[in-house]
Amino acid sequence: MNVDTIAEQNIACPRCGAEERAEAYFCSYCGAALREKPPSTTLGAQLKVYLIALLVPPFGLWYGWKYGKWDDQKSRWIALTASLLTLLSLWATWWVIQSLMSSLTTTLNAMVGI
Ligand SMILES: [Zn+2]
Repeated sequence: MNVDTIAEQNIACPRCGAEERAEAYFCSYCGAALREKPPSTTLGAQLKVYLIALLVPPFGLWYGWKYGKWDDQKSRWIALTASLLTLLSLWATWWVIQSLMSSLTTTLNAMVGI
């Protein structure tokens, strides 16, 4: 293995200079953050994301993007679910509005005697 290959696999900690694996999120010597940590994939975090996607759809898309940029399967799955729930929520909102408009039209038509 040549030096270039080793340099690609390891990164130097910006604070203490210790060598860390490129996949490491934090320096194991001084605790400095080495790169952005992926968002939490715990069940609680997932439920929060899904609820937000259902209740405030635009934020669901934001979560879809936030989780979607990570390579691991769990983050991808959360991103996909959040995006689908967002679409479902938008569709449900549209459907409710359509139903209300439709029943309102029927009521108004009945009132004016058409
Ligand atoms: Zn360090």
